[in-house]
Amino acid sequence: MHEMGIANSVLQAVRTEMGLHPGTYPCKVGVRIGEMAAVDPEALRFCFEAIILGTDLESLALGIEVCLRRHRCQLCGREFIVRDYDSRCPQCASLETTCISGDELELAYLEVEEYGPSAVGTKSTQ
Ligand SMILES: [Zn+2]
Repeated sequence: MHEMGIANSVLQAVRTEMGLHPGTYPCKVGVRIGEMAAVDPEALRFCFEAIILGTDLESLALGIEVCLRRHRCQLCGREFIVRDYDSRCPQCASLETTCISGDELELAYLEVEEYGPSAVGTKSTQ
């Protein structure tokens, strides 16, 4: 199950961000997954929750955004969402279309909260 590896890299990216912004606490991380990236969002969520359990990031929420496969027609320039693997242009019926999105696998956003003045120093980063 490669979702575990993905969950680990998401967490790694969050920790890198935390290192760059001391004094903040991440509350939600969002990932963008293209439908062709062959990632099961539910499996990813399961793995993510399993690896943060019992750590200082236990309360971190995961937001998953699934991107549909999009093609652009080389003849008329129309952009459209591909359904049922039919990549024909809906406008001019050309088969010469190129994939422009749908295989994303990236960090979309990270929501952080600043520690209140009273909370500074009370949280361990260990
Ligand atoms: Zn077209």
